[in-house]
Amino acid sequence: MYVRPVKITLRVRLAIVYGTLVAATLVAFAAITYVTVSNELYKNLDASLSRATSSLLSVLRKEQAQSQRPLPKLRSSKRRVARETDMFSVLQRTSLRDFVGPIPGVDSLAYELEPVWSAVYEHMLLNSSNYWMQVVDTRGEIAWRSENMMSDSLPLFTDLVAQGAAVIDDKIYTYYWIRGERYRIVLSKGDVADVTAAYPVAEIDATLRRLFSLMLYSLPLVLAMSVFAGWLVARRSLRPVDVIATSARTITASNLGLRLPMPASNDEIARLTETLNEMIARLESSFDQIKQFTSDASHELKTPLAILMGELEVALRRPLSAEEYRTTLASCLEEVIRLTHVVQGLLDISRAETGQVQIVRQPVRLSALVADVCDDVMLIAETRHIDVTTQIQPSITIAGDRVRLHQALLNVIENAVKYTPDHGSVRIEVDAVDNRVRVVVADTGVGIPADQLPHIYDRFFRVDKARSKNIHGTGLGLSIVKWIVDAHEGTIDTRSTEGRGTTVEITFPLR
Ligand code: ADP
Repeated sequence: MYVRPVKITLRVRLAIVYGTLVAATLVAFAAITYVTVSNELYKNLDASLSRATSSLLSVLRKEQAQSQRPLPKLRSSKRRVARETDMFSVLQRTSLRDFVGPIPGVDSLAYELEPVWSAVYEHMLLNSSNYWMQVVDTRGEIAWRSENMMSDSLPLFTDLVAQGAAVIDDKIYTYYWIRGERYRIVLSKGDVADVTAAYPVAEIDATLRRLFSLMLYSLPLVLAMSVFAGWLVARRSLRPVDVIATSARTITASNLGLRLPMPASNDEIARLTETLNEMIARLESSFDQIKQFTSDASHELKTPLAILMGELEVALRRPLSAEEYRTTLASCLEEVIRLTHVVQGLLDISRAETGQVQIVRQPVRLSALVADVCDDVMLIAETRHIDVTTQIQPSITIAGDRVRLHQALLNVIENAVKYTPDHGSVRIEVDAVDNRVRVVVADTGVGIPADQLPHIYDRFFRVDKARSKNIHGTGLGLSIVKWIVDAHEGTIDTRSTEGRGTTVEITFPLR
């Protein structure tokens, strides 16, 4: 039993697919952003810490160089103080102890602050009050550390090396825990001192956490908005499909002349509508053909049946002589034969159209077959003094269905004799030209008017019924011939001049 799947409209399906794609893109984008921001922050922190230590180190180096050089006479008193103490005194000056904090404004101390702390400050990207700085002299003793460290101290070069930290270009980059907080540490090893800078990682982590929660909360919102937008777009673009469905529902067998309304756009929906309209047009023409066929068939059957009924009624009305009965019965038999022909023709056509007739391809000696058919019609031709001449190239064989080919050739040759007045002539030729076999049947008969020629293969078509009144026929013969020829990949061509004669040329592919 066919179980209908759960109904999910195309609109919803499109919205789901669209939403999934948007969600995947957003998540990927958010992940890339997060990772990039996180990397950048840590990279910048390292760069900032590293530059701060290097700058401080170079100030100390300069200071040491100056303290060892005899000063020119006119040096300022401040510089002399520096010379008297060691190079670390530049760090020890009271006014500089609280360097950590906002950059001091332009005041009397600014000049003194400048050399050391402007070098440090200009490299600080993050909150400057969180920077810890420590200077260790060559003996391994802490010469100075920033005020904000209080009693804490940063690890020495030897501590870090002992912990397994790698030294790259006289610098160590590592993490260090101080009182439960993780610090990023950069230590610059110098010839005059070791300078260490540290920054609590928690602050960067807080920034990243803020970024993460921003993404976490905005993501579903953006997603919901885009799914809704997708749903709206899908609904809008699928509206014409509803119009098609509603219109198609109104088209039935009785109003196949109706067509679906063409949408204003020139897109896939328009193409679909056009294709459906073409299909309806084809259905309409097939339907018309069937209707025509049914009415023609009943008409063809009605006439012989009416004649039969009349003959039988007359015969029953009063007693007849044996001779009269014989005449009536002969007339009835004639009508029955006609009926049989019509019914047989109808049966052949309907079987052919429903694909029930299989063409069995076997080698058929066409030369012999045509000669046989000629023999069959010869008897009738002779009684009507019609001269039948044949010119048959021997031993021509084609691949086909012997019974069907016989039926087709008999029909065409019979027609030639049938529609040729007494004392006329019929010529039959069979030859092979360029890979094709040609059968030509030419007569000197009544011919077919040019305007009727295109219709002779139509079912039940008979040229001028009055003209062929005395000639028995159903009008089905040539339509069956055409079908058989087509089924053998052949061609049929009829040329005719009214009153002069008709030539039918059939060709088949040579085996
Ligand atoms: P029918 O049973 O009437 O012969 P066909 O389908 O064989 O039906 O032929 C259709 C019509 O074509 C005939 O009624 C006839 O008018 C015309 N026709 C066919 N063959 C010839 C011919 N050789 N000469 C003149 N008319 C022909």
